[in-house]
Amino acid sequence: MPELRKDPITGRWVIISTERRKRPADFRLESVHIAPDPACPFCEGHEPMTPREILAYRNGSPANGPGWSLRVVPNQFPVLRVEGTLDREGEGLFDKMNGIGAHEVIIESPHHLDTLATMSDTAVEQVLWAFRERVHDLKNDRRFRYIIIFKNHGAAAGSSLDHSHSQLIALPIVPREVRDEVDGAHAHFESKERCVFCDIVRQETSDRRRVVLETADMVAVAPYAPRFPFETWILPRRHQAAYEDAQRHEYAALARVLGDLLRRMNRVLQNPPYNLLIHSAPLAEPATDYYHWHVEVIPKLTKVAGFEWATGFYVNPTSPEESAQVLRETRG
Ligand SMILES: [Zn+2]
Ligand SMILES: [Zn+2]
Ligand SMILES: [Zn+2]
Repeated sequence: MPELRKDPITGRWVIISTERRKRPADFRLESVHIAPDPACPFCEGHEPMTPREILAYRNGSPANGPGWSLRVVPNQFPVLRVEGTLDREGEGLFDKMNGIGAHEVIIESPHHLDTLATMSDTAVEQVLWAFRERVHDLKNDRRFRYIIIFKNHGAAAGSSLDHSHSQLIALPIVPREVRDEVDGAHAHFESKERCVFCDIVRQETSDRRRVVLETADMVAVAPYAPRFPFETWILPRRHQAAYEDAQRHEYAALARVLGDLLRRMNRVLQNPPYNLLIHSAPLAEPATDYYHWHVEVIPKLTKVAGFEWATGFYVNPTSPEESAQVLRETRG
């Protein structure tokens, strides 16, 4: 029997399809192969090919030249623009505002072939620290309500450049996926006086069937009602609403768990394309008690089809118990 499961945060239903059950070998896997690219704008030595850097970790070398381990630059083709004032107007029923925002690219390594799975824990931690620094800076801009940080790895996951990078977009609104989580977490807090994410950490670590790996600070789990096969969340054990308010050792812990998880996924799913995103509390909302930042990693193994578009219901052919077990029993 297929199973309908409800996500405890958003109330979103998914169908875990047992009849169409898929194990790792059953997916038509599209492995990511990074090809050398002499014209790559993100490689060390090609700094003039990008806009001027916003932030860089350098060993005393001058800005916008070689000698760095990480750079942050504005996106050359931003989805939103940083200049201007935020005007909200409407056409009767329809709302609109001008496209204010910031769109930045975090170039995670000077080396073209590096990935988060092959980089050292320290190098991954540096990436996580750069996210934090950029959020703290952009928070000062009162026009922004939300900052989303995400990564597309591989062309099938939406990446247009192979060189390892993440993106950050500061938005004048709170996006709907986040709104659903924040509102759901708020409702849970109102009725139970507890954070739903802390409850998830507690229940999953005592139940253990959906735990992929855990450390003193972080827990990686397959969520109870995942939309996608092998969807995995990394949650800090310590309650904290905003990513940028985590402690130094938590970024180090997250770097270790993230690298480990990605290496396991690479083994099991043969270097899959994936999307990674950070969910954090909205900037101007004191969601301190009830929201809890986390990372979601979603390998791109299936295509979203008509049923999903029509209903918002996802059909997932791999149960989280099975995906967690496979990842748990794999070396990272
Ligand atoms: Zn490159
Ligand atoms: Zn919590
Ligand atoms: Zn989330």
